[in-house]
Amino acid sequence: MSTATDLKAFTPQDYKADIHNDWCPGCGDFGILSAIQMSLAKLQIPPYRTAVVSGIGCSGKTPHYMNTYAFHTLHGRVMPSVTGLKLANHELTVIGVGGDGDGYGIGAGHFVSGGRRNLDITYIVFNNDVYALTKGQASPTIGKGQKTKSMSDESIMEPINPVLLGLACGYTFVARGYALDTKYLVELITQGIRHRGTALIDVLQTCPTYNDLHSKSWYAEQVEGQPRLYKLEDTGYDPLVHDPADPAEVTQKKAQALLRSQDPSGRIALGVYYKLEVPTYEDFLKEKIPALESKPLVDLDIYHRDITPNLQKLM
Ligand code: SF4
Ligand code: MG
Repeated sequence: MSTATDLKAFTPQDYKADIHNDWCPGCGDFGILSAIQMSLAKLQIPPYRTAVVSGIGCSGKTPHYMNTYAFHTLHGRVMPSVTGLKLANHELTVIGVGGDGDGYGIGAGHFVSGGRRNLDITYIVFNNDVYALTKGQASPTIGKGQKTKSMSDESIMEPINPVLLGLACGYTFVARGYALDTKYLVELITQGIRHRGTALIDVLQTCPTYNDLHSKSWYAEQVEGQPRLYKLEDTGYDPLVHDPADPAEVTQKKAQALLRSQDPSGRIALGVYYKLEVPTYEDFLKEKIPALESKPLVDLDIYHRDITPNLQKLM
């Protein structure tokens, strides 16, 4: 008879699919993929209890490289797909992945609705400022006046701020990571998965093929004599709303997070910006459908219910 101590612990290798990876050499996507696999191993979430869903883009290939349940959905449709998946089986750990163009551009409407529901899911955005799969057109996160080697002219629009967007849309966990700092990214993704609610993790991702502005060396530069990238926790910042029932504190924390997300010095803060612990969408559903306490929707016998009495009422 096997005992709990005989059971093999999951390692990052257990989440890797045996499929050829065709991302460009040096792409930041590799770091994010490894961080997801390492986080799942750290949390010991079985691969068969995990689902990874992607939109369209280079990042869209992520589920193919995962030895978990996986779904490569339509452009910008990560949030509706993870929503359906989580509603059907709330016992799964559901992770959405996609690019900046996919999530903040094409799928912006879904990004808004997905945030305010507060389902217990994690959404990781691979943010490289371009639509890399289609040859590097400007995405909503490229800065005004910036021109990568793949753009014919400089951008004439202001960029969106993913942290501000996440806060505005009601995400209850908002963080920013860097693809080439895998160790720290593992910490952020682990926290995001542990968080009960919708977690947004915007990951600054190098795309050496199309984005020559925000390269590995640019992120490593000094700004005013200090590293461009720094960690929020090193400044003593506390992202947690201590009293979720106090609207003033919620607003104040969002304002603090916003100020830190656009450092006027040009430095960039990584870390958890905002964390609000409130009931999830699933908690409310379980109040309405108590049967969900014992098993997920997918295991409930909803298809064989006799609906004749209801139909007769309509006649
Ligand atoms: Fe990565 Fe850019 Fe190559 Fe896509 S085009 S795989 S984002 S380096
Ligand atoms: Mg992109």
